[in-house]
Amino acid sequence: MQDNQEHLRAVAETIARRAGAVTECEYHGELLTNDCDEQAFALGNKLYDGEFRGVFSSRDEMKRAIQSVINDAAWDCGSCDRNKDD
Ligand SMILES: [Zn+2]
Repeated sequence: MQDNQEHLRAVAETIARRAGAVTECEYHGELLTNDCDEQAFALGNKLYDGEFRGVFSSRDEMKRAIQSVINDAAWDCGSCDRNKDD
């Protein structure tokens, strides 16, 4: 069950990345949000019946997973912020 949750999250992260809703700090790999949740949900809805068919049990579940990935992403990379002060 835990593995499945991680898989759902990985797929949600893939969707969010492709939509440009989250990006990775090019130096530290930290996940950063771009505040465009709607684009991620729109892309998710498109892939729900396509590439990721059968992955989520409902569109709501998919939306929650995407939302959770975006919520957990940071506005700024903490490592980059720290480096600025050096
Ligand atoms: Zn960084």
